[in-house]
Parts: sequence; structure tokens; C-alpha cells
Amino acid sequence: MDMPFTAILATTKETLTALEISITQLRQYPKGDLLCPECKTVMFPRGRKGYLPHFVHTKKTENCSLAGESQYHLALKLGIYEKCLESYKDAKISVEYSIVKDNKIIRRADVMVLFPTGYGIAFEIQLSPISLEEIKNRTIDYYEQGYDVQWIVKKTTNSDIKDWLLDHGSLNVLTTSDFKSAVISSETLESTLPY
Ligand SMILES: [Zn+2]
Repeated sequence: MDMPFTAILATTKETLTALEISITQLRQYPKGDLLCPECKTVMFPRGRKGYLPHFVHTKKTENCSLAGESQYHLALKLGIYEKCLESYKDAKISVEYSIVKDNKIIRRADVMVLFPTGYGIAFEIQLSPISLEEIKNRTIDYYEQGYDVQWIVKKTTNSDIKDWLLDHGSLNVLTTSDFKSAVISSETLESTLPY
């Protein structure tokens, strides 16, 4: 728990990602310099056999959307990120990308694909229960920025949500092979495969 892929530097406000910089290199930053991009809590880098590299919040943060993510969420995020790098050669691909409106962060896409023309596709992984209202609001927030959004939901998600997303072309069907880079065993993936 409590683990995004990205951190911001307290000193320079630069964004770092544990997918591009090794944990050894990340440990070179002074303690207290790596902050959560969302709640600004101090974090430390963690790399360990069998796990994806990530940052850990140093204290409980109930309102941070990046704080409750599981290894499975991270594995899906990484799988989508790598798939996008492969599929959209001309685009800029980011993880945990901030959507800004009137100088305020209104959403954070798990993975964001930005084309040179300004169009974009956001990927939202939703593994915890959510209301249809919230799904609609978030989807509309992306549309208003001119971005498409693809939702990755669990098989057990309420059918009113799946129906609405299917109807709006925003339900993404993924297969196990999309996540071959994930450190999670394929059996775990099979049993929790989204939609
Ligand atoms: Zn946070």
C-alpha cells in the first residue's frame, strides 16, 4: 500500500519516476526531498525482489488517491504504460499525470498518452468500488479538456457502470498478455483479470 511510481523533488519541483531512475540513484536524494505529487507527504524509494519499484508515504494519508494503491494497481499501470509506449510511438506517455484546470489539479490519470497535436487518452484503473455518478464526473472532466478516457475496471464492477462505459466507448478490455512485464504471477492476474 501507499505507493506511487512518481515523486516530486522538494527542492526543484522536478518529477521523478521509479520506472526510469533506479532505486539506488533515488536513494542519493537527501531524506525529505522526495514528496508525493498529490499530498506532498515525504516518501522514500523502495525496490525489492518480486515487487515493482515505487515510493512509500512516510505517514498515513487518507485523502491521497496515490496512497491506497496496491501492487496489482501498480502492475496494471506499468502494463498499460509499456503497452502505450509500444503502440503510440509519436506520443508522450506519462504515469500519474496531472490534469490541470484553472491552475488546479483536477484529476490524475494513471497513464496519459499525449499526442503532438494536443489530443490525449487517459487511462484510469478503478479497482475499488465507485459510484456511477463519480465515473460520469471524472469522464466528463477529461472530455472537457479534449481528452478521451479509457477505464479499466474489475469483472465484479456493477453492471450499471460497465453498461454506461460500454455505451460511451470508454470500457477497456485487457488481456493477461498486456501485463507480461508485471511482477505479479500470471495466476494472480487470471483470477483478478479486469472485465
Ligand atoms: Zn500522497
